[in-house]
Amino acid sequence: MKFGGTSVADAERLKRAAQRIVAKREAGNRVVAVLSARGKTTDALIAEAFEISPQPDPREMDMLLSTGERQSCALCAMAINDLGHRAISLTGSQAGIVTDTSHTKARILDVRAQRISDALDDDAIVLVAGFQGVSTAKDVTTLGRGGSDTTAVALAAAIGADVCEIYTDVAGVFSADPRVVPYARKLPVVSFEEMLEMSASGAGVLQLRSVEYARNHGVRIHCRSSFSTDSGTIVVGEDDGAADRPAITAVTHSTDEARVTLEHVPNAPGMAGRIATALADANVNIDMIIQNEPVVAGAGADMSFTVPRADLRDALASLASLAEELGIEITTDESVGKVSVIGEGMKTQSGVAARVFRTLGEEAINIQMIATSPIKISCVIELDEVQRAVRALHAAFLS
Ligand code: ADP
Ligand code: ASP
Ligand code: MG
Repeated sequence: MKFGGTSVADAERLKRAAQRIVAKREAGNRVVAVLSARGKTTDALIAEAFEISPQPDPREMDMLLSTGERQSCALCAMAINDLGHRAISLTGSQAGIVTDTSHTKARILDVRAQRISDALDDDAIVLVAGFQGVSTAKDVTTLGRGGSDTTAVALAAAIGADVCEIYTDVAGVFSADPRVVPYARKLPVVSFEEMLEMSASGAGVLQLRSVEYARNHGVRIHCRSSFSTDSGTIVVGEDDGAADRPAITAVTHSTDEARVTLEHVPNAPGMAGRIATALADANVNIDMIIQNEPVVAGAGADMSFTVPRADLRDALASLASLAEELGIEITTDESVGKVSVIGEGMKTQSGVAARVFRTLGEEAINIQMIATSPIKISCVIELDEVQRAVRALHAAFLS
């Protein structure tokens, strides 16, 4: 069981989560629960760091951020003990979560779950602080925003859990973010393939890495509401191949991107490789990439790509010396957003792209960049127009 930040935000909610954990235990299950930091705690800690330092040291940032989930676990253990059960709280490190050394976005390398297994054998309920681990260099690390989902899935895999239940503030995975499209539909099942594309394109309800990890380790994810007992969304291994499936399953969006444009890139073999390598070495993930050969012989090429806005500074720093050496001019745009439509149905239906572009056109929304996969079409648009684009696409395809 994993409870997100909203689900443990105040004393009443935290006690309700504790009751839910206890009820699961009393139903005869052995329970490991992963908790997130309460409410906006992580945001507040990040803000505190930036009040102190313009570029907080990543190692110390992780020491700071990891405290949020520790608070939740210790408090929840107290609540469970008061309910007459025995709970022990563990940090990510104590729980045996070993990561690489990339602070603030570490990857889980191994889960040494012996201590958890021992505690379960000893009849305890185990609470694990989400979003954190210990690196191969023995430092505390955090797993990137939304990382408690990945903690939960990784522990579920390590202990061979029957199911990984992700309790959150919505009733499951919806056909669009319910905060943007109030009439969005809950999806009873979603395939790993679709969920991966959804998480990658901004559906923060499940962290992308948690979905990858679940697919690779065969973990069953059930994403459901903390506030009701209704069943939510199951992420399934294979789609049922329904013949009458709609063209698209969901509309997703992201408002956390920035666009980087490189002009006068020499039109020569190896340039894209050098640019992408510089960014990869700085641990910056580039998303959409557009490049065209110059129309005029001898002219330089233009290349544009998007990066998470939080990585823009690192991206620019990593390209500075290359740009200087090659005479590349770099400009950035932080006011971009992205809207995507996703669905296995588009594998077999034609005209989906045309309908997406037409829908945005009718809304007078200009498309700056386009990228596709076999089950996704993404468009970069003006940040201010994202919500309108999501609603228009949802109405066009899913209403
Ligand atoms: P938690 O704190 O429980 O981890 P998150 O805020 O990380 O919760 O994720 C839940 C939020 O994800 C919802 O409140 C919702 O606004 C957002 N969200 C975005 N896209 C979707 C979607 N397609 N389906 C459900 N929720 C979504
Ligand atoms: N507390 C962390 C965050 O806000 C991790 C999580 O909630 O999953 O991103
Ligand atoms: Mg989350």
